[in-house]
Amino acid sequence: MRILVVEDNPDLRRQLAEALSQFGYVVDLASDGEDGHFLGDTEPYDAAILDLGLPKMDGISILERWRANGRDFPVLILTARDRWSEKVSGFDAGADDYLTKPFVIEELLARLRALLRRSAGHTVAALECGHLRVDTRSARATLKGAPIKLTAHEYRLLSYLMHHQSRIVSRNELVEHIYDQDFDRDSNTIEVFIGRLRKKIGTGRIATQRGIGYRLVDIDT
Ligand code: CA
Repeated sequence: MRILVVEDNPDLRRQLAEALSQFGYVVDLASDGEDGHFLGDTEPYDAAILDLGLPKMDGISILERWRANGRDFPVLILTARDRWSEKVSGFDAGADDYLTKPFVIEELLARLRALLRRSAGHTVAALECGHLRVDTRSARATLKGAPIKLTAHEYRLLSYLMHHQSRIVSRNELVEHIYDQDFDRDSNTIEVFIGRLRKKIGTGRIATQRGIGYRLVDIDT
């Protein structure tokens, strides 16, 4: 899952980037409102964490512009103080959730998981496909209860497929959601990662739809 973080405080930005990467997300960072608006307007994010008080363009204006332009990924806003008016403006502008600073990172991660689940149509934190299970709280995968050792890329790939297991996911979509903007995005590498993932979880669990993409298959029922 690919997350945009728009935050002008360098310490908080770094802290968010570290925590999100640690839990298997790909993160793009913006330190001012103009950059943040541009990225969210042009890149396909699974969710955004948006500070409201930003240089160059404020968070509410960014959110209004994204929504006016049809950008519908979930957005969690960060409000500097416990000001009800900021929250109301945020929700009116199209925010899905908010956190008041200072916050504990665990709460932010939990809220983000809930947003991602809801937008993909799931209600629980553990995603299952037959005996294959991904727990988004710990960013770990198991098969029949046994842990599967995955690299960061493999986890992101599996997690994305698990979130969207009811449909076929194209190779291009995977490229856009498991790499950050600076990564050298060669879509052939997706095939390599899929191959490695199949070796770890069982070949039959990821079906290739020629020319279209990939789909998770429940081979246990
Ligand atoms: Ca700020």
